[in-house]
Amino acid sequence: MKAYVLNKIGQLDYMERPLPRLKEGEVLVKVGAVGICGSDIPRIFETGTYHFPTIPGHEFAGTVVDAYDAPGRSWIGKRVGVFPLIPCGRCTSCIERQYEMCSSYDYLGSRSDGGFAEYVKVPVWNLLELPEGVSMEAGAMLEPASVALHAIRRLELREDDTVVIFGLGTIGCLVAQWLRTFHIEKVLAVGHRKEPGILMHKTASKDYLYRMEEEGNMREWIYEKTQEQGADIAIDCAGSPVTVANCLECVRPGGQVLLVGNPQGEMAFSKDSYWKILRKQLRLAGTWNSSFAHQAGDDWHESVRHMEAKSLQPERLITHELAFGNLSQGLRIMRGHVEYYNKIMVLENKVRRK
Ligand SMILES: [Zn+2]
Ligand SMILES: [Zn+2]
Repeated sequence: MKAYVLNKIGQLDYMERPLPRLKEGEVLVKVGAVGICGSDIPRIFETGTYHFPTIPGHEFAGTVVDAYDAPGRSWIGKRVGVFPLIPCGRCTSCIERQYEMCSSYDYLGSRSDGGFAEYVKVPVWNLLELPEGVSMEAGAMLEPASVALHAIRRLELREDDTVVIFGLGTIGCLVAQWLRTFHIEKVLAVGHRKEPGILMHKTASKDYLYRMEEEGNMREWIYEKTQEQGADIAIDCAGSPVTVANCLECVRPGGQVLLVGNPQGEMAFSKDSYWKILRKQLRLAGTWNSSFAHQAGDDWHESVRHMEAKSLQPERLITHELAFGNLSQGLRIMRGHVEYYNKIMVLENKVRRK
């Protein structure tokens, strides 16, 4: 098979690889669509994966084409989304079925081979069948969609809350889409350049307000839009010290701050910001990954349910569709920020979406 193999930091080779050998409880998935995650860029170019060689890619969907044993055979021919985290099953978090906090997990696309390949081996446990109306591209976005839902579920959310989002990358835009499904009407989003705002208006709600950071006076804008009270909830989807400080500044006393974005670097913040946490008696929450527990109501089942009902349309965030052989082009765009992108999706059969 053809695969993108990370042989060392910064060296991703498009090369021929033998098909994965299946073990007990595993199936072979033919990748239909794989998204490039923001986290893949530092993984490939700065930090590397846990060992080399590894095939990156953790946001993918495909079709089951082979199985090692009986449990897998019933999946053959089915279209599936794949929960990329393989829990240990023994630690306290696993016993509580909070697999996202497993202390010694395996992960497709960073610790084990992932979806930047024609085929991936996946444990049956990690499969979620895609309903008929859910496309491969949407299926490949189950992971970020579930991450965004998981984040929002860390909040105490009321319908009349005003929510500020800093950072409108894929997760920020998905947070906005979820807020719409939760009937939140007052959303203020902040990002760079004009395109993210246009995309949010198209995919979440045209009533949500957007402001470019370049326009300045963020505090004034947010206080003006909240009758000088500050927002009930501030969500950081950017992972920069500046946006976290903005969250602390713009949230009202007694409000909630949710930290979602992976840190871009050191996250030092000023004494003044720290005082805001104390004086405003803020509630801070972190979020990590998503829940997948083989039951209705977990993040993945909730995401697929909303995708089927079309109340969540993550695939509308796809700004670039690339053929499998052109994956490196997507990495170049994301790494160099050479043009605006939101989700860059690589497709097995690149066919135009309507
Ligand atoms: Zn990701
Ligand atoms: Zn565990």
